[in-house]
Amino acid sequence: MKRTIARPENAYQAALLRLLRERARSRAELGDVAALSRSRLNLELDRLIELRLAEQAGLAASRGGRRSGLVRLSADLRFAGIDIGATSIDAVVTNGELEILGHLSERCDVRDGPVAVLDQAMEMITKLGEQDLFTQLYGAGIGLPGPVSFREGVPVAPPIMPGWDRYPVREAVGQALGCPAVVDNDVNIMALGELHAGLARQVDDFLLVKIGTGIGCGIVVDGKIYRGVSGSAGDIGHIRVDDQGPVCACGNVGCLEAYFGGTALAREATAIAGRSAYLGRRLDQTGTLTAEDVASAAEMGDAEAVRLIRDGGRRVGTVLAGLVSFFNPGLVIIAGGVAQLGHVLLAEIRSVVYRRSLPLATGNLPIVLSELGPDAGVVGAARLSSDHVFSAPR
Ligand SMILES: [Zn+2]
Repeated sequence: MKRTIARPENAYQAALLRLLRERARSRAELGDVAALSRSRLNLELDRLIELRLAEQAGLAASRGGRRSGLVRLSADLRFAGIDIGATSIDAVVTNGELEILGHLSERCDVRDGPVAVLDQAMEMITKLGEQDLFTQLYGAGIGLPGPVSFREGVPVAPPIMPGWDRYPVREAVGQALGCPAVVDNDVNIMALGELHAGLARQVDDFLLVKIGTGIGCGIVVDGKIYRGVSGSAGDIGHIRVDDQGPVCACGNVGCLEAYFGGTALAREATAIAGRSAYLGRRLDQTGTLTAEDVASAAEMGDAEAVRLIRDGGRRVGTVLAGLVSFFNPGLVIIAGGVAQLGHVLLAEIRSVVYRRSLPLATGNLPIVLSELGPDAGVVGAARLSSDHVFSAPR
């Protein structure tokens, strides 16, 4: 039987849970960081322990005088993180500190529609449950490869997800898993993953550019995702880079994504296969080319493939230079499947951004490739869920 899921009762308890999410801490340290009086702190901590959201964890090292009791998040806390991509699903179960306890990855086709795809995702969570990773989830976070109204928990007119428009994903997942659920787009959850466990841990203001099947940008301001008024902030794939360009999936002409998403790259690779020995051979063998083929061709020094990546990197760099001038981030992370194109791509993006933006903006601006890989999305989804659960009741 599922028991009722405890939630923090006030803003103090929520703040303490977020501090404990980083690591176990002594009561003395918690009092300092949270700026609570000793009596208030002990009152709220005792309540969190009663609610089984936190637990005692022995004694801390002495700071002189009496040793202070260590407190940590309850060892029973579990969150699910689900990252639905255009062609794959990743699902994890984490503990309260958002360390991954189990991770499954399966192929899927998001065009099969919400019922089939969410069923598959729920089955993956069930499989993780069968590995004794949890008895009760405290929350679940889901990322989708398209625009999401975060407030309503539904995708809105997602270009590559037929049948998903306004499907109640948050409600469906919450009901299936018996816990609160939150839904966001895949780029925002990746940015949260980087903030929690990746290169952005010490950075409050940064951009994450995802180059996968499509192109999007996660915007983190003061340690929080910036979503804009309706949730579409960061949709940079549809910034026009050329009035005469190819037609995009969104119906407009010359979008960045129409030049350099995974789909565009596959199309371009096929067009130049006649001039590249490697790509020509791959095309003969498999009948289609993908962004990965371009990556392997470039790795082997194929000049045409390298040129494709440079052209794409230059266009991404041009858009990014504009964003850097506008936003003045402390870090830019390049992530997503096409980012596997690696250092040729990174070098091109860097050279354009550093050349085009003003020195004050780029003087201290690292532009780096994500090191989290497929973990970024799922950790971020779990973090999104934990942010929601560890928040004060309204
Ligand atoms: Zn477009």
